[in-house]
Amino acid sequence: MMKNIIEAIKISENDFINIRHQIHQHPELGFDEKNTSDLVAQKLSQWGYEVHRGLAKTGVVGTLKVGNSDKRIGIRADIDALPIVETSGKPWTSKIQGKFHGCGHDGHTTILLCAAKYLAQTRNFDGTLHVIFQPAEELLYGGKVMIDDGLFELFPCDIIFGIHNMPGLKAGEFYFKEGAMMASSDTIHIEVSGIGAHGAMPDKGIDATIVACYIGTALQSIVSRNVSPSQAAVVTIGSIQSGDAPNVVNASALMKLSVRALNNEVRELLLNRIKALVIAQAESFGAKAVITHVNGSPVLVNGKEATDFAIEVAKELVGANKVHVNTPPLMGSEDFAFMLEKIPNGCYMMIGNGDEPGFCNVHNPGYDFNDNCIVPAAAYWAAITERYLR
Ligand SMILES: [Zn+2]
Ligand SMILES: [Zn+2]
Repeated sequence: MMKNIIEAIKISENDFINIRHQIHQHPELGFDEKNTSDLVAQKLSQWGYEVHRGLAKTGVVGTLKVGNSDKRIGIRADIDALPIVETSGKPWTSKIQGKFHGCGHDGHTTILLCAAKYLAQTRNFDGTLHVIFQPAEELLYGGKVMIDDGLFELFPCDIIFGIHNMPGLKAGEFYFKEGAMMASSDTIHIEVSGIGAHGAMPDKGIDATIVACYIGTALQSIVSRNVSPSQAAVVTIGSIQSGDAPNVVNASALMKLSVRALNNEVRELLLNRIKALVIAQAESFGAKAVITHVNGSPVLVNGKEATDFAIEVAKELVGANKVHVNTPPLMGSEDFAFMLEKIPNGCYMMIGNGDEPGFCNVHNPGYDFNDNCIVPAAAYWAAITERYLR
């Protein structure tokens, strides 16, 4: 039966490769995915879905109810692109300079559309299917905005799923991890204020540049001395901006940090230690520091039951040799974590994008989604839906 799904979906493979290329040529950034959202909504209505638009501005939810069961499944795809100049050289290269589907969300959108079409035509399930097309994943809060706009009140789900392609892993094979699979992400800005002075008379000022350097050094002690060696954590100072001239004692410095953890307690520890160290370090020099938490997304945690179920369906569909369990977690982040916080009965998984020599990672200007993943991944969404709602 599972093999039949793959065969049935394979028939329309070329149509969906064309859709993927069309989306790829017209990339749109977070919350601005107007044409992509139009395309998705138009296809879904054409196939008989009830279509809701406007959650998180450009979000689209398609609902298909078959039979009498009150069980509900949600499957989510992200639809946004990145502000990168593409260099893939592919015939379907981005037509919009400086915008690029460099993370394969064009592929994720196409996969879910492909599954949605098959499920609407076959209607071989009993219950409610919600296909959720989410904007602004790259900003790491499109998912949160959809939830804040009422996603799960309007479209309650008993179980949810999401997928991401991953270069470096075998094309079309599935990768799972129960529990924490992707890290929390927090962006922190630190504004250090001192007193400006002539570079030849440092005693007349308080040097914000030097204070920032000490803060940067002190921050290195958090992961090495405060976090248990058995836990994963990252504190990266991605930017320090201060001054312009060699003969100036600077009155201010701005630091930008990215903070990651695979456990919400470690996340709290990192954020608390950063605050304490920064304030104390600045004070010790007579300077001031203001800390701004710019944004944050939680650890992505896959539910045990949902993950077991997802693994079982994958094994039936493509065979156990193409299904990898206990994949090592990633320190990258994903705003599907907000959805899993609301609906812990869910699973986010990876599909390999290929590991041929010279492959490009996501966010690399030469990256391209592997079209060979459309059929297995779409068949997988169809199988998961039919199995959960049978
Ligand atoms: Zn990305
Ligand atoms: Zn992505």
